[in-house]
Amino acid sequence: MTTLDAPAGDAPAFEVPTSMSPSRVESFTSCPMAFRFANIERVGDPPTVHTTRGSLVHRALELGYLLPPERRTPAGFTGAVDRAIAEYRSMPDFTLLGFGDDEAAGFFAACHRLVANYLRMEDPQQIRPIGLELRLSAQVGDLSLRGIIDRLELRDGGLVVTDYKTGRPPSSNWELRSLAGVHFYAFLCQQVFGQLPVAVRLLYLSSGEIIEAVPSEQSARFVVSRTAAVWRAVEKACTSGTFTPRPGALCASCRYQRWCPAFGGDPDRAHLEAPVAFGLAAA
Ligand code: SF4
Repeated sequence: MTTLDAPAGDAPAFEVPTSMSPSRVESFTSCPMAFRFANIERVGDPPTVHTTRGSLVHRALELGYLLPPERRTPAGFTGAVDRAIAEYRSMPDFTLLGFGDDEAAGFFAACHRLVANYLRMEDPQQIRPIGLELRLSAQVGDLSLRGIIDRLELRDGGLVVTDYKTGRPPSSNWELRSLAGVHFYAFLCQQVFGQLPVAVRLLYLSSGEIIEAVPSEQSARFVVSRTAAVWRAVEKACTSGTFTPRPGALCASCRYQRWCPAFGGDPDRAHLEAPVAFGLAAA
């Protein structure tokens, strides 16, 4: 990790990132200390069952939508899942999970089930995708906003942003916050294509729930102001070297807990110990 020179005796200062994405905004607002480990020091982000299942299912849906419309059938998508599984079998995202044969079979079956659920939510032959895993970026002042849209499609001449979710759907209290990422993508579409999407959608594959909203100029402005505010807080934390832990529900599954001061850990040891602890480097 590159650190900036700091006066002797001061807390170390970190290089300020020049880009923000929805996941970075979410990560910093959830816990600045976890954000430091993951996004500033990049001490490693070992795969979990949840993250690998999510990325494999996203890949399967991408492969399914690369088929011509008439082949986007249940059999076509089953084949797409099988292809995604074949790709993942040798990838660290999967091998680091350390599954035995039975666990791997159960894991792959769960991926198939999520895609089967998806096919009950919409008819892929009726969708007109114009972008899959689409990378967009836009400059706002000194800050670059970036995002990867799972699927961008045309509906009655307007753009529609669709984001697949493989985790649990949010409670009604968190529904608005869960839409922040797709509103961010809508803003990027407006900057890149010159038009605001007519809809943004979250598809929760485990429950079959669809959350849809209509972006507006106001929601686009909110994306910019919220992202800029979070970035200023990131900048301040990087400059001062102070990333405050925010203990909460996420701690139970936080992979950085052993280095977190809220749990008696030393954050400055994370970059030294994490590669070995996570199995990402030889001991
Ligand atoms: S253990 Fe909790 S407070 Fe500490 S870094 Fe992880 S999420 Fe943040």
